[in-house]
Amino acid sequence: MASLEQRMSAFLRPDLQAMLPYVVQPSAGYVKLDAMENPYTLPLALQRELGERLGAVALNRYPGDRVEDLRRALARHAGLPEGYALMLGNGSDELISLLALCCNRPGASVVAPSPGFVMYAVSAELHGLNYVGVPLTPDRFDLDEPAMLAAIETHRPALVYIAYPNNPTANLFDDTIIERVVQAAPGLVVIDEAYQPFSSKTYLDRLTRHEHVILMRTMSKFGLAGVRIGYMMGRSSLIEQIEKVRPPYNISVLNCEAALFALEHETEFARQAALLRAERERLIEALREMPGVLPFPSDANMVLVRMPDAERSFAHLKQRGVLVKKVSSIPALANCLRLTVGTAEENDLMIAALRESVA
Ligand code: PMP
Repeated sequence: MASLEQRMSAFLRPDLQAMLPYVVQPSAGYVKLDAMENPYTLPLALQRELGERLGAVALNRYPGDRVEDLRRALARHAGLPEGYALMLGNGSDELISLLALCCNRPGASVVAPSPGFVMYAVSAELHGLNYVGVPLTPDRFDLDEPAMLAAIETHRPALVYIAYPNNPTANLFDDTIIERVVQAAPGLVVIDEAYQPFSSKTYLDRLTRHEHVILMRTMSKFGLAGVRIGYMMGRSSLIEQIEKVRPPYNISVLNCEAALFALEHETEFARQAALLRAERERLIEALREMPGVLPFPSDANMVLVRMPDAERSFAHLKQRGVLVKKVSSIPALANCLRLTVGTAEENDLMIAALRESVA
């Protein structure tokens, strides 16, 4: 009889051993400002109403018509143009993975600016696509136009990802360069607007200019990170093909009902986003006044900041009970931390701890 070790080495894919798991930092007991979550919950009266709605959901049935209702509600919410379709995923993470699955042909590659959202690389590698990260400009973290165009010409990528705004740098890339990249791309281009609720711009009004562009969004940053609903919008004929690789029941009935409820109360979420945008500006102002501290411009609910000593500030924040994301191991982000914008009280704690850490 073969041992489990022998079975694993004979039958699991050989590159699995060397892969690193996606690690979520333990956060119990901390003020959690590490993952761009919306810090607000629903007002109590709405929580109760939601509880009743969820209590009435038939858990014995597979997801069905309500998922179609959610698709329609999101299409209305986004203002989906004529001739376009919307596809739902279990978070945009699942959609990123399904796109890689769709483009998985021998020699296929994925191009994305770097540093960028880590799942573009992870999903490409998991599906056997070649991932090509193209460094952003070192000063402003903008797209490096010649480098992007060269990578597109060399690799002829199946997919180009552009996060608009970008994570972890939080900025919007230059629109003229995006346009040239979109025009040069031989395959599909995904504009990932995960942070759209906090952004001063959207690609939506330009979507119909290019039929090979897919616009991806998520309800996570809107305020439903725990609910796991991502969506993408593209030409109906394209989405129809990608739909074929979607697991049939990928949206849970509970997630679906919670998302529909949230959309019925979208003004509450819009109010929360407005508070967070104002708090972001206050946070940036406070950071600017600290000696040796450089916050970068943000159109998201996070701020990338260069500290005199990121290790020291990160440790001090933790000691004060505030958890942020240390991104300083990424070469382009030496001494940088990525701060999620929280409530006014949470931001006060974070600002005080950061100030102490550079005193
Ligand atoms: N795109 C970007 C740019 C992100 O930063 C994130 C999450 N941090 C996602 C997509 C994934 O979001 P979701 O929660 O919908 O999987």
